[in-house]
Amino acid sequence: MSRPIQARIDLSALKSNLRVVRRLASSRIMAVIKANAYGHGLLRAAGALDEAEGFALLDVRDAIALREAGFRQTILLLEGFFTADELPLLAEYELSTVIHNLQQLAMLDAYPRRGSLSVWLKINTGMNRLGFAPEQVPAVMEKLKSHPAIGEVTLMTHFAHADESEGVAEQLERFKGLTAAYRAPRSLANSAALLRYPATHAEWVRPGIMLYGASPFADTSAQQLGLQPVMTLSSEIISVRELKAGDRVGYAGLFRADKCMRIGTVACGYADGYPRHAPTGTPILVNGQRARTLGRVSMDMLSVDMSEVSGAEVGSPVTLWGNGMPVEEVAAAAGTISYELICALTARVPVEY
Ligand SMILES: *Cc1c(COP(=O)(O)O)cnc(C)c1O
Repeated sequence: MSRPIQARIDLSALKSNLRVVRRLASSRIMAVIKANAYGHGLLRAAGALDEAEGFALLDVRDAIALREAGFRQTILLLEGFFTADELPLLAEYELSTVIHNLQQLAMLDAYPRRGSLSVWLKINTGMNRLGFAPEQVPAVMEKLKSHPAIGEVTLMTHFAHADESEGVAEQLERFKGLTAAYRAPRSLANSAALLRYPATHAEWVRPGIMLYGASPFADTSAQQLGLQPVMTLSSEIISVRELKAGDRVGYAGLFRADKCMRIGTVACGYADGYPRHAPTGTPILVNGQRARTLGRVSMDMLSVDMSEVSGAEVGSPVTLWGNGMPVEEVAAAAGTISYELICALTARVPVEY
């Protein structure tokens, strides 16, 4: 037997979450599969999301891998190209690219004469991360329209507050004003905007986290949104012991028992991708029952309170997150978001589909 930790990826849940997107928006769907499909495996996730009209990611090598695996959809590079020598690859593999700065615009002349490049022009409407400033847009559009290498231009922006109470109103209005003059497809919505603001749907929606079955909102669960968890990280109890009042647990003895208690050690630590900063009290499922972690997470193990858990012993199943233990809840307890946890699964964890 090997170490009992495992990540199970439920591809039918991924398909089901894609159907949720389809019901909500009549737009074309650009499934965001950056970061190894948020930790779920690029090609397996893309296979399950095959009904999407497009895939968005960052690395041109991943984009080529998708093409070579036979995917015919639009494939979009979300940060675009970084050097001119990538442009022949975009032509050869018919990849679409974001253009967000003047340096990329200047490099376009290296695009081969054959074919035409599909460009997504990114406009900064308030996120202040990527994108042309509003006042640059008319000149950039002019340049793209007259450029021999450029085919279709899609206009896009990205929201900074779609998951919060501040919402999208200000950025949406700015984007509408800037793009009203052009006849071009538009794309604005990430998962949060897709779920909450139908006015942002436009021609293309760009869901990421919701496809993987996690809620982008602090105040609404994935279940309430009709989403199913895709990744379940599980392991087992590999040691059980009784503590007396005053006994301490783990590195730095961060947890101290104030009475007799029964604790277990789980074969999962930060080297598997479990957050080291998850404090005592982070929720966890032991033998199908909710329990809490104790003390500091170590590289390969963490401790759980089994005082209230019935029937648990060495070999009992543990769910770190996923089915029965929403990843958002674990993330919130650890002071982070679901995105970071699912992306951070490490290579040593065996994945089963
Ligand atoms: C990551 C990303 C998305 C998807 O965001 P979610 O919150 O995961 O839905 C959409 N658009 C862009 C530009 C992104 O970088």
